[in-house]
Amino acid sequence: MDYPVEENLKMVRKQMALACKASGRNVNDVQLLLATKTVPLEKLQIAVQAGEHLFGENKVQELRDKYPLMEQSKALEWHFIGHLQTNKVKEVVKYVTMIHSVDRLKLGQVLHDQLVKEQRTMDILVQINTSYEESKFGASPEDAVELVEQLSQFETLHVKGLMTIGKLHASADETRQCFRLLKQLSMQIRERNIPRVEMEMLSMGMSGDFSMAIEEGATIVRVGTNVFGPRYLPDEYYWNEHKKIED
Ligand SMILES: *Cc1c(COP(=O)(O)O)cnc(C)c1O
Repeated sequence: MDYPVEENLKMVRKQMALACKASGRNVNDVQLLLATKTVPLEKLQIAVQAGEHLFGENKVQELRDKYPLMEQSKALEWHFIGHLQTNKVKEVVKYVTMIHSVDRLKLGQVLHDQLVKEQRTMDILVQINTSYEESKFGASPEDAVELVEQLSQFETLHVKGLMTIGKLHASADETRQCFRLLKQLSMQIRERNIPRVEMEMLSMGMSGDFSMAIEEGATIVRVGTNVFGPRYLPDEYYWNEHKKIED
C-alpha cells in the first residue's frame, strides 16, 4: 500500500477525541463516517480491518460497484451523502440505511413513494446550505423549518437531524458560523415537536474542519482525504453536477 490508511485513521480518531475532550463531550457521542468517493476497494478493506464500519458515498454508481464487494462483513453500514437525483432513488435505497442529503420536497415525495412500495422506512437528514454558496446543494436556512415540517408528513421518512457542508477555503470564523447555524436550526426545529422528527443528529465536519464541527455539536463527521489521501477529481464534480437541471 502506498498510503498509510491505518495510521491516518488513528490520527483522525485521536483528533476527534481531543476535540471531544476540549468541548466536554463524550467520544462515543460522535461517529466517524468515512467518505469513500473515488477511494479504491483495497483502502476500504484496510479501514474495515481497522474496525471502521460506517461509510458514505456520493454517487449511486460507485455505491453499486463497491457495495457487493464489501458486503461480506454484515456489520458495515452505508449512508448516502451526495446529491441525490430522483431517478436514482429506487436504487440507492437498496444500499443505504441513511440519506444525509434530502434537500427538497420533491425528493422526499419520490423517496416516500418508493418506500411505501417496499413497505420500509428510511432515516434521513435534511441538508442545509449554511454557507449560502451558489455551488452548494441544500435547502436555504430560511426554508429549513418548513421543509422539515413538509417532510414529516411522509410517514416512511424518519428525520433524524440536519447535515451541512461548512464553508470551505474560508476563514475559521466563517466555517464555524455555518456549524453554529446548523445547530441553531436544529434547536429551533426540536422546539416544534414535529411528529416523527428527531433532531438528535448533526452531520457536519470534513477533513479540514471536523474538530471545529465537533466543538460546535457534530454527532457525525464525514472524513475522506485525511484517511484515504487526496482525490483525483475536484469536489465540484460531486457537488455541482446537474445543479442547473435539477428537478
Ligand atoms: C467528499 C465529502 C466529504 C469528505 O471530504 P474530505 O474533505 O475529503 O474529508 C464529506 N462530505 C461530503 C458531502 C463529501 O462529498
